[in-house]
Amino acid sequence: MDDPTVHGALGKSIAQVYTIEFQKRGLPHAHILIVLRAADKFSTSEHIDKFVHAEILSSTENLRLHEIVTKCLMHGPCGIDNPGEPCMKAGQCKNMFPKEFRTETTMNMSVYPLYRRCPSDTTFVRGKEMYNRFVVPYNPYLLLKYNAHINIEVCTSLHVVKYIYKYIYKGFDCANMVLSAGQVQYNEIANYINARYVSAPEAM
Ligand SMILES: [Zn+2]
Repeated sequence: MDDPTVHGALGKSIAQVYTIEFQKRGLPHAHILIVLRAADKFSTSEHIDKFVHAEILSSTENLRLHEIVTKCLMHGPCGIDNPGEPCMKAGQCKNMFPKEFRTETTMNMSVYPLYRRCPSDTTFVRGKEMYNRFVVPYNPYLLLKYNAHINIEVCTSLHVVKYIYKYIYKGFDCANMVLSAGQVQYNEIANYINARYVSAPEAM
């Protein structure tokens, strides 16, 4: 377990499922659900802390990890100071950032665990000072290996497992549209035409 490469970065996987979404600008985006063997399941806060972090590591502790986290894993900043961010809906971040500070990770049976976010480290991201309340949870090994945005969430409750299975199969983006040269006329049949949004990379 100490060497993440022995049984996989998060433990030994006994089942996995994934989907690849293409976002509007064509960027492929994978949702991967991994079911771990019983011995590797995330049943304690200490176990979660070994594999999932939601804090900015100091640059003296690990410069490369610090750079990847600040470049790829900082959400926003959004909130009342930045109401124009795309994640803001009706004055609130739809991803529930900024998260609360907490000095230790706690299991939460109804949603995802509440990861440790100490009120210490700050960093400048996109010209704004940011702190641990905006870090997207990550696995240090995967970040160092792939140098990319990889969000890791621990799913321990039935509620979350049900949600996550549904989420990865939520399907492609749909648009209901009418192409018309003149003024748009209300047309009930045309209104029901479904168009699938396919970006160039996905079409390729
Ligand atoms: Zn947000």
